[in-house]
Amino acid sequence: MDGQKIKSIREYLGMTQAELAREIGVTCLAVSHWETGSRQPSVLAIRAVEMLGELRGPDKRIEMEKEAKERFDKINQQYFNNRLRKRYQIIFSKRMRKARGQALPKRKVILLSAAKLKESGWEEVEKTLKHEMIHCWLYERGRPWGHNREFKAKLREITIQGKRNNKGEKSGHMGLKG
Ligand SMILES: [Zn+2]
Repeated sequence: MDGQKIKSIREYLGMTQAELAREIGVTCLAVSHWETGSRQPSVLAIRAVEMLGELRGPDKRIEMEKEAKERFDKINQQYFNNRLRKRYQIIFSKRMRKARGQALPKRKVILLSAAKLKESGWEEVEKTLKHEMIHCWLYERGRPWGHNREFKAKLREITIQGKRNNKGEKSGHMGLKG
């Protein structure tokens, strides 16, 4: 099963067995053995391949950021009357592990944790995105933009409105994937 995983990452990266072997410092035969299941890869080897997948998989990251931007636009329209400027950049950070996200409104950047997306999926990431967007929304209106009373009121409003919207979404509304 681990061999299958290694194979799928290798194929995703478009590498040959020899290329993968060279990258992580094992023999070509070892990779072949893992993939056919005749030998089990070590935990370290699996991790090395996974990390390679994360580092060399920029396409996936672009896709994630595109999806996040689409959600941003939708949330902006639904909950903020398009008050947030369109040129915000949403970046998935691989280093961010403890926090779910971070708003950098001065730089027009919202950071999201790539690890959290992997762990808990888009539903949770969208919650984080809404949270960070409230910070930005306050900032753009020249308000204090911490977790203050205004922040919490907006969060409550969005949560309530979100529940109402979800009920109506069953009627053929084109939902976002994931
Ligand atoms: Zn916050």
